[in-house]
Amino acid sequence: MALLDSYGRTINYLRLSVTDRCNLRCFYCMPKEGVVKKGHAAVLSYEELLLIAETALELGIEKIRITGGEPLVRAGIVSFLGKLSAIRGLRHLALTTNGLLLAEMAADLHKAGVQRLNVSLDSLNPQTFSEITRGGDLKRVLSGLDAAEQAGFPPPKINCVIMRGVNDAEILDFADKTLSHGNSIRFIEYMPAAKEDDWQRYCISGEEILEQIAERYTLEQVDKGPFAGPSRDFRIPGARGSIGIITAVSGHFCCECNRIRVTSTGQAKGCLFSDAKTDLLPWLRPPDREGLAEVLRRIVTRKPERHNISQDGYTHKNFTMSQVGG
Ligand code: SAM
Ligand code: SF4
Repeated sequence: MALLDSYGRTINYLRLSVTDRCNLRCFYCMPKEGVVKKGHAAVLSYEELLLIAETALELGIEKIRITGGEPLVRAGIVSFLGKLSAIRGLRHLALTTNGLLLAEMAADLHKAGVQRLNVSLDSLNPQTFSEITRGGDLKRVLSGLDAAEQAGFPPPKINCVIMRGVNDAEILDFADKTLSHGNSIRFIEYMPAAKEDDWQRYCISGEEILEQIAERYTLEQVDKGPFAGPSRDFRIPGARGSIGIITAVSGHFCCECNRIRVTSTGQAKGCLFSDAKTDLLPWLRPPDREGLAEVLRRIVTRKPERHNISQDGYTHKNFTMSQVGG
């Protein structure tokens, strides 16, 4: 049974964050220091996360993406994923990671039933990568990508946030990876998260990214799968991987939005950029399946038609992307 919101959009995708902790500090996502760690009791237990997943799947969600923070830093994640992948009705289980721990964990993640990995990688230059992530080691991510394929995953999708003056000179290098390594690349527009008044200076629209690629390559439009959501996907003829753009800021996005989000502390959100959130704890502690189903349905029904971050007069709200899960 399809889960529809009030604008007729099919909502089939849940982004479930399992932690707000991270072993990196990407400058666009988390502050350098002063991140207050959530206490153990504030973070949802795996049982609570499984209850949310089961309830959402009963309502019509078909795809779950595990995110964070960095999901692979949470103890017990592999066993949790094994239980999650076994739930009836789950057609697609994906995980987004910064890739640092993949070399050690890829085989276990594959065995646990994760079907697809997205790896966030914003630069192929060790120095730039280290600057963006405030100290990350590119070599570890690259060996994680190899380990994922050796473990039996399709070439991971690479999420790349393109920022003017930071990594925009690498757009074609990433596009080349769809030919040379078969990875699909998702170029994500930089979104205002960490509090910065002149955040617009980093913004490059998806259109501009495509124009740069089109100067070297012909791009064919690609048909999207059932869970693809708001990305627009293309392919360089002959490439195994596709090139997608997620134009979260410049537009053409909200009308195809198919997702809801739940944070690791149990806050459910219908829209990444809306202030509206619903605390699920009253239906989790103690567990109340019927109440939880009703409240999740309400979040879908009240999902806003669109965000307003690209409109004049938008005042930037401070939120940490690592808490919401991207
Ligand atoms: N730690 C994991 C990772 O980096 O893949 C999962 C969580 S991270 C919050 C999920 C995604 O959000 C990443 O692909 C990251 O690049 C993206 N993200 C974080 N802050 C962003 C921002 N300000 N603008 C655009 N994308 C952002
Ligand atoms: Fe951590 Fe991912 Fe945020 Fe980078 S984008 S700080 S890896 S949660």
